[in-house]
Amino acid sequence: MKRISLLGSTGSIGTQTLEIVREQKDIEVLAMSCNNNIDLFEKQIREFSPKLVAVYNDEKAKILRERIKDLDIEVVASMEGLIRVAEYESADIVLTAVVGMIGIEPTIAAIKAGKNIALANKETLCCAGHIIMPLAKEYNVKILPVDSEHSAIFQCLNGNENNKISRILLTASGGPFRGYTKKDLEKVSLKDALKHPNWEMGKKISIDSSTLANKGLEFIEAFWLFGIDLDKIEIVVHKESIIHSMIEFEDGAVMAQLGTADMRLPIQYALYYPERKNLSGDRLDFFKLKSLNFEKPDLETFGALALAINSIKLGGSFPTVFNVANEFAVDLFLKEKIRYLDIVEYIKKAMLKHKKIDNPKLEDILNIKNETEAYLQSIYKGEEL
Ligand code: MG
Repeated sequence: MKRISLLGSTGSIGTQTLEIVREQKDIEVLAMSCNNNIDLFEKQIREFSPKLVAVYNDEKAKILRERIKDLDIEVVASMEGLIRVAEYESADIVLTAVVGMIGIEPTIAAIKAGKNIALANKETLCCAGHIIMPLAKEYNVKILPVDSEHSAIFQCLNGNENNKISRILLTASGGPFRGYTKKDLEKVSLKDALKHPNWEMGKKISIDSSTLANKGLEFIEAFWLFGIDLDKIEIVVHKESIIHSMIEFEDGAVMAQLGTADMRLPIQYALYYPERKNLSGDRLDFFKLKSLNFEKPDLETFGALALAINSIKLGGSFPTVFNVANEFAVDLFLKEKIRYLDIVEYIKKAMLKHKKIDNPKLEDILNIKNETEAYLQSIYKGEEL
């Protein structure tokens, strides 16, 4: 049996992880957490019978405790609760699928408890890659990427660990607005932005995919995961999302991982690494594919991608500022309080205001989050500091 802890079980990655658990029958979910969707969480608890569960939202934790009184399962709450799930004693692997920067602390706790990490939370490496990667090395734990692109690169590297990579080719679908000009983007609505051509995802990541901020975060993640120079990571827009990413070795050989757009594959690969297991679902039909297309990303139109790349080039605390500002602005956009193109303006303003910290500690990262949010809040209210 594989024993896992699952952080963020009610989101898109979380529910697909549980589909794999249901299908494979040799994975035991010992502990799991959710943010606040306790209706779905309760169903999952009754189906998968974990030993410990955490709800980030305190009030919802209380309600859930009442609802599952008939079960012998401990319900814990808040960040402390997430950390207990992350450290859960007999789990071998922790899958972190929470959304946002709340994923950082539980991941650090899990590494210190000696767990291998299946990482789906982008913010962890984006903001704290300089803390996480050395820590994983120190505790001798693996960071197994769950994101489809990084999983593709990871799969291509299998058996090639000692060979020199000359380029990482990070593929991007280009999102729903591929080919748009800045002028076209002025008119897009929330509904348009939520409609991704190839993938079904949560709301935050759908918006990030439309602005290409998501690709920016993935660029930063690739830098930390694979320890490669920034100028050797190239973004390739590939609208079919059939190639999930590629690497080029120093002899010019390019390895690619291809597949249908199904997140269960990278999730399952991370859980069973280095083993492959049967997975139900569609297979690629090359005769139906006809052609695969590639183009350069449009950094002029998709300013969020340009800013993300710039943030990791500037280094230190800048990627955190990028990420916080993006989260903040996307939240306002999802509430229909700002326009689509304002997202980039908010990120730009926050980065211009920021004074870099070279090697931010966790405490600094959390402070930067508060400061950046306070600054952007003042802009939103029209009372700029
Ligand atoms: Mg991805």
